[in-house]
Amino acid sequence: MAGSPSLSEYFTCSRLNATTFVIHENDKYEEHPFIYVKIYSDPGLVVICDTGCGGGDAGREHYHNLKDYIETFPAAANDGKPLNPLEAERKYLIICTHCHYDHILGLKHFQPASKRILASSFDRSFIEENLPVHSLCKFLDVPTPEYTVSYWANDLEKLSFDQKSLNLQILHTPGHTPDELAWYDEQERHLYVGDSFYERVAKDKSYEQPIIFPKEGNWVHYMLSLEKLLRFVEEKNKEPGQAPVRIGCGHITSSVDGVEILLAVQQYFRDLIDGKVPIVYSEEKRGEEFVLWKAAGDSRFSVAAPKRLALEAAKS
Ligand SMILES: [Zn+2]
Repeated sequence: MAGSPSLSEYFTCSRLNATTFVIHENDKYEEHPFIYVKIYSDPGLVVICDTGCGGGDAGREHYHNLKDYIETFPAAANDGKPLNPLEAERKYLIICTHCHYDHILGLKHFQPASKRILASSFDRSFIEENLPVHSLCKFLDVPTPEYTVSYWANDLEKLSFDQKSLNLQILHTPGHTPDELAWYDEQERHLYVGDSFYERVAKDKSYEQPIIFPKEGNWVHYMLSLEKLLRFVEEKNKEPGQAPVRIGCGHITSSVDGVEILLAVQQYFRDLIDGKVPIVYSEEKRGEEFVLWKAAGDSRFSVAAPKRLALEAAKS
């Protein structure tokens, strides 16, 4: 198999900026999660943002293990070298944007290699209690990964490692889930927002995805989080002589102008809440009505959620 083009099909990797790569997982659940990998030389650390769906079926794809892929796959995007070659001996810090299965199933490959797992402190019970339901693993009939969050990050907290600043900042952004977080890379001026939003159609147009909310979503919190992200990005954009902040999402969208997409998402949800976007599909799930909103034509976003979330936001 070595050298065959299919070698890298399960994971594909491209460079996002000088220090960061984005890996796309072509998983069996068709979630297509984006996994961000930021490489530090000093301190010797690799920051991984979400770990995807846990790889393919062993034996079917060569690289079914994210950690192996990062440590041994000769990535064209990294001049033919692995992103984190073993001899570099860098440690791992894993940022979990939230605990949905398509973001945490890959954690198993990093344990016990990394005990550094970071999550939002906004509502610890969402992760610490009833994880099979909150991760949605229960509904997919996949074993819920066992992991321990070693670092509960507070809102606006700045991260360091080995007493050195990582120039990363955490923002609590509840709404998609209570534990949803965003993190800002000051050095690269890139803000990662997890599943809070993303565009509808993949770059190569091979698949599309709505912005999805589970039963545990909350659009009152969500609208406040969008406003908070917008204010944060606008503040950063006032810094003189610096490039405008870009945004990377958990699916579909890896690099887009921050203010521009935040304004567009805000408007889309305002229209949704005002009943201006048609419901094109409806089904009963987890004891309530889940619907898909999609504007006619080549809409930039679509949204799937319990209908209740929109009604609750309209009332608030
Ligand atoms: Zn999610």
